[in-house]
This record gives sequence, C-alpha cells and structure tokens, in this order.
Amino acid sequence: MLRTFLIDLSQAAWAQDLVTRSKLARQASSRFVAGHTIQDALRVVTTLNDMGINATLDQLGEHTANSVAANRAADGILEVLDELRKAGVRSNISIKLTQIGLGLDENVCRANLMRILERARDHANFVRIDIEDSPYTDRTIALYNEMIERGFAGETVGMALQSYLFRSEADARALVATGARLRIVKGAYQEPLDVAFAAKADVDASYDTLVSILLDASAAHSSRLSADGRVPPIAAIATHDETRIAFARTYAEKVGLPKTGLEFQMLYGIRRDLQEQLARLGYPVRVYVPFGTHWYPYFMRRLAERPENIWFFLSNSIKK
Ligand SMILES: Cc1cc2nc3c(=O)[nH]c(=O)nc-3n(C[C@H](O)[C@H](O)[C@H](O)COP(=O)(O)OP(=O)(O)OC[C@H]3O[C@@H](n4cnc5c(N)ncnc54)[C@H](O)[C@@H]3O)c2cc1C
Repeated sequence: MLRTFLIDLSQAAWAQDLVTRSKLARQASSRFVAGHTIQDALRVVTTLNDMGINATLDQLGEHTANSVAANRAADGILEVLDELRKAGVRSNISIKLTQIGLGLDENVCRANLMRILERARDHANFVRIDIEDSPYTDRTIALYNEMIERGFAGETVGMALQSYLFRSEADARALVATGARLRIVKGAYQEPLDVAFAAKADVDASYDTLVSILLDASAAHSSRLSADGRVPPIAAIATHDETRIAFARTYAEKVGLPKTGLEFQMLYGIRRDLQEQLARLGYPVRVYVPFGTHWYPYFMRRLAERPENIWFFLSNSIKK
C-alpha cells in the first residue's frame, strides 16, 4: 500500500516540488545519491575502486520534458564518458531512454542513443540501458536490438530486465541467444496485475529463473569481466537479496562458471557490507552510483522499496 503511494508520488510534479525544497529530504537523499556533480560521483567511484569494487555511473534524469532537454541530457552523458576516460577509473555508465527522449519522439531518442554508444565505443566503455516501466519495455528492447543490428557490439551496450514482468523469461531467452549482456533486477515501478507478478514469492522465483537462463548462457559463451572493470560479463545479478545471491552462486558453481564469469550489482548506499563481502570472496561487484540534481524520482523509488527508510530518516533528523 505504502509502496504504491510512494511510487505514485515519485511521478507527481507537486510532490517533487515540495520534497526537493525540503532540507531534510535533500539530506536524506544523500544516502542514495553520490552528489550533484560528476566530481562528487568520481570521488565515490575512486573510493569504491580502492575497495576492489567497480561502478556504473548514472547521471540522474528521466522523462525529459522536450527534445531540447533530451539532447542536453545526452550531451551530459557524453561528458560523463569523457570524464571517466580522463579519470581512468573502473566504471561504465547506466542510462534511461526516457532521459534522452523515448517518451517524446523515438527518433530523438535513437539519435541520442547512437551518439552515446559511439562515444562509449571510442572510449572502450560500456553503456547499460536501464529498464523503466512497462509502457517502455517493448521500445527499449527494440532499440537495443536495433543498436546491435546497426553494428554496436555487446561489449558496448547491454540492457536490464525485471523479474516482476511475466514477459521477461521470454525476453531473456531471446536476448541471451544473441549473446546480450543483461542485468537482472526485480523491478522498481508500479505495474498492473495483467503484466506483472504481485506476490513477492513469484517475483523471487522468476528472478532465479532469469538468473539461471543467464548463467547457462554465460557458461556456454565463457564471457568475463574485462580487465579494466568496464565491460561486464553476460550475467549481472543486481539485487541485495541474500537468498537470490546464494542461488546465483550455487547455480554458477553447478554449471562450472568461474567467479569472474558473473557480476553482482548493488545500489550506492544499500548493503555496503554485502558488497564488500562478495568482493572479498572474489566475485566482481559493481555499484550503481547515481548523481545529479534530478534525484527526486530515484530517491522516492528507494523509499518505496523499503518504507522503513522514511522512519529511519525522520528519527535521525529528530536526533540531530
Ligand atoms: C544495480 C541495480 C540496478 C537497478 N536497475 C534497475 C532498473 O534498471 N530498473 C528497475 O526497475 N529497477 C532497477 N533496480 C531496482 C530493483 O528493481 C529493486 O527495486 C531493488 O534492487 C530492490 O530489490 P532487491 O532485489 O534488492 O530485493 P528486495 O527483496 O526488495 O530487498 C532485499 C533486501 O535488500 C535491502 N534493500 C532493498 N532495497 C532497499 C532500500 N531501498 N533501502 C534499504 N535497503 C534495501 C533490504 O535489506 C531488503 O531486505 C536496480 C537495482 C540494482 C541493485
């Protein structure tokens, strides 16, 4: 109930206005957001790298209002790729297609995506396309496939799939058949009952199924994390759920996949202990590091995932 309410709020302009003006919310968001500038984000990436953890940088933004803003967002992402090369850190990037125009005009989005992938290819870096809510799933997969047909390699671009969607098993099977690098997540949006599992147990079971599809494909293709930590293996297991992680580890061992044949991904600010523990065990770990001024919807989704976070922030602010 509270989850639905918070996700609804994440899309409400009036709430965005109210929350982003609150000092308390700005302070609270800093648990999940690395800062406002690329320099703030690079400091976090460097610290992670020093701990043996890779990163994926997300210049926050989604549902841009017009094509000028979408083009500007894409320009910003190009600068992030340039800064990553200059800094020489172990990080790739994650992007949302509605940030670069998918909700406005597919041609604008396509042109921006191609500019970003060309720059990533020039810099030998990798772009992960995040997966947004279900009205965009078809178009996201179609644009990903189109980029591969246009000659961009799986070392340059990959995407994510959500285990709460009924369709994801079929999508995963079709995509891994082409060697796609996929990130599996549970899903962070509010979806109608005719497209998504409502029960947590079903979302979790679907997660394990998707992971097994990816790990089977990884064992067959023997894909590995690149030496510079940027290009991920086929299977990116993005969760903080220890039972899902244990399943992935056991399944990978069963199919004879070495630890470097998969990577675990987690969000900045969540389960740092688990990130470090997996890295110490020799698994590649990548942390998703968001930065920028458009933090509101991202922050609200993090609250929706764990509404107890609200009480945590409120009690901390009272103690101060
Ligand atoms: C690297 C990465 C990339 C992602 N990309 C996308 C994407 O492209 N599209 C998309 O829809 N979703 C994305 N997500 C979000 C994802 O869909 C889930 O909403 C989120 O990961 C929480 O689910 P979980 O798998 O951790 O499992 P859950 O069962 O929700 O949580 C397991 C445990 O993790 C901890 N935890 C989880 N969330 C929080 C939180 N917000 N605050 C504090 N503790 C928490 C708690 O200890 C909880 O018990 C991404 C997640 C990660 C890790």
